[in-house]
Amino acid sequence: MPCGYLSFGDDGIILAANATLLRLLGREGESLVGQHFESILTLPAKIFYQTHFFPLLKMSGTVEEVYLALKTASRDDLPVLINAVRREMEGFFVNECVVVAMRRRSLYEDEILRAKKDLEAANLEKEEANLSLGVAKLALEQKKDELQHRNCELEELREMLELRVEQRTGSLVRANADLESFCYAVAHDLRAPLRGIISTSTILKEQIAAEISEEQLALLERQAFNGRKLADLIDDLLVFARLGHDAIIPADVNISQLTTEIIGRLEIPSTRVKPTFSVQPGMRAVGDKALLRIVLQNLIENAAKYSPEGGEIHIGSTSAGGQTTYFVRDHGIGFDMAYATKIFMPFQRLHRDSEFEGSGVGLATATRIVERHGGKVWAESVVGEGSSFYFTLPDEPTPTTLPNSFPPG
Ligand code: ADP
Repeated sequence: MPCGYLSFGDDGIILAANATLLRLLGREGESLVGQHFESILTLPAKIFYQTHFFPLLKMSGTVEEVYLALKTASRDDLPVLINAVRREMEGFFVNECVVVAMRRRSLYEDEILRAKKDLEAANLEKEEANLSLGVAKLALEQKKDELQHRNCELEELREMLELRVEQRTGSLVRANADLESFCYAVAHDLRAPLRGIISTSTILKEQIAAEISEEQLALLERQAFNGRKLADLIDDLLVFARLGHDAIIPADVNISQLTTEIIGRLEIPSTRVKPTFSVQPGMRAVGDKALLRIVLQNLIENAAKYSPEGGEIHIGSTSAGGQTTYFVRDHGIGFDMAYATKIFMPFQRLHRDSEFEGSGVGLATATRIVERHGGKVWAESVVGEGSSFYFTLPDEPTPTTLPNSFPPG
């Protein structure tokens, strides 16, 4: 039978016990017959048997699903479920019990209990986590509010700053325009009296040349020379000042052709051996032709001026990342790279007038034009080996109004 069986008389003496029960008790091969039923009960089971189990069985003739603990051979508790009936056989009462071991069930119950406890603990943890999540969410909301508030403040500050920058820029642009007009007017007004001085000294020289000494004649010549130099300087200044105002008229410009034209008209003193020019063919750019002519002219004139007699000058272009860079390269005297930025400022000259004549405005003018087109100008040089002057032009010029670039004072 898959369950234990046991019968005992009203005196508690076991009448029969099957093999399954003996195996459950660890007493295979033994016999329980003749022993008292209480001998295989644990102490609490014994008490329960005496006070409830047996009186109930006696009274109602049947007991169902009674939970008891039997004592095994190794003195361990064996939880069992017992159903019992009481039958009368020939004037003698026999109590028959079916015994089902509950060891696994109690194990399961333990496990279920443990799982239940774990679940409760997990739920508790979840609740706590939810709670702290709630607190964190609240803090986050507060932080968000704070941040929004700060952003509003920053936005106000930014608007205020923008307004201030706009006002300052406005007054700077006005001041700059005033300064340029002033510069233009002064330069323009200086021209007439200067021309007067030059012609006076020229006439004077012609009229009294025979009567005065060579030294006095040289002084008059020097006066006319300086006057002419000043006039050239004023002319350069006027061109430079006008560049801030004149509109850029963009067009497709054949740079190679323009360069060749400029070289053809280049004024080189007849006493000097002309430099050799090489011009890369097919160079084109978008820009204001008249202004680009001034840029190239200044760079080419410089290359010729600062090259030895018969020196080689190359005008070409390179392309990288969709950007064309034009260059004018000479093998002349070069300059110290420490002054590579300074020479692009007006009136900044690295060579004395006695060595090389000039006004110091050429590169500043070229820079102003290229920057107004939205491009860049720079130079590389090695003293005694030569210089390369580079400039870029965007595909579509973005005309800009430039700030005044006259050095202070
Ligand atoms: P300048 O009329 O004096 O040539 P620029 O503005 O054209 O005025 O040039 C400023 C200075 O930069 C020159 O005085 C010269 O010292 C230097 N410079 C310009 N171009 C060259 C060059 N190709 N080689 C060496 N130095 C140069």
